[in-house]
Amino acid sequence: MSETRQFTWQSAVRAIEDVLYPPACPLCGRPDPPGRDLCPDCQAALARSRSVPFCTRCGTTVGPFAGTTDGCPSCRTRPAPAAGFVRVGEFSGALAELIRAFKFQGRDDLERHLGELLGDALRSAPWLSGIDVLTWVPSCWQHRLTRRTHATTALAPHAARRAERPLRRLLRRVRGGRHQVGLPRLERLENIKGCFRIARGVRPAGAVIGLLDDVATTGATVFECVRVLKRAGARRVYVAILAHAGGLPELPRDV
Ligand SMILES: [Zn+2]
Ligand SMILES: [Zn+2]
Repeated sequence: MSETRQFTWQSAVRAIEDVLYPPACPLCGRPDPPGRDLCPDCQAALARSRSVPFCTRCGTTVGPFAGTTDGCPSCRTRPAPAAGFVRVGEFSGALAELIRAFKFQGRDDLERHLGELLGDALRSAPWLSGIDVLTWVPSCWQHRLTRRTHATTALAPHAARRAERPLRRLLRRVRGGRHQVGLPRLERLENIKGCFRIARGVRPAGAVIGLLDDVATTGATVFECVRVLKRAGARRVYVAILAHAGGLPELPRDV
């Protein structure tokens, strides 16, 4: 009885919502996509961004026939800070549009969609079942003062729910560092050094950790976080990101 009433109530709310906010594709705005998801054209465009082959060691886009079991040409000669790497896709096309809309145009309605895409990327990883805990690359206090939403912090709970792994804050950002965009590779590495520490009251020693981030351009930030976790005794750290924006990977040489 109560279930029937709840179902009826939810249906009524949904019907009212449909009148007030007619279902539309969150990317192109075309009306009436199935299940309030992306329309078929945008789904196809997103699938193209997701299907670009990448290196499972550093996340960089690779050619369609490149073997990556021991890394790609960009990372093969360097030590691998992360034990494995997955991504939703390349920072291009529909995926880049979704991320830009969420991060820079205040489209908070995309939070769950992007978080679940990140969760799906985790589910595709062969190492997911060995993960003890998921965590994320945190924002600095300057960011929290100036912007409403920190993308990775917002996406992480949705990704963790989708991947059915526990989520815990393991890192804190103690220093903002200059904005990385436009900095040359070596300056990026210097700029990000010392920006992260282990969160208070947390002991990651012995843990197998999955680290989440939104976009990596060179990997300097996410690999600095991997290094901090490993210095604190993490057994292995795997990385999952939304998108890789290309460029040469910056793999710290002392991990
Ligand atoms: Zn669309
Ligand atoms: Zn690589």
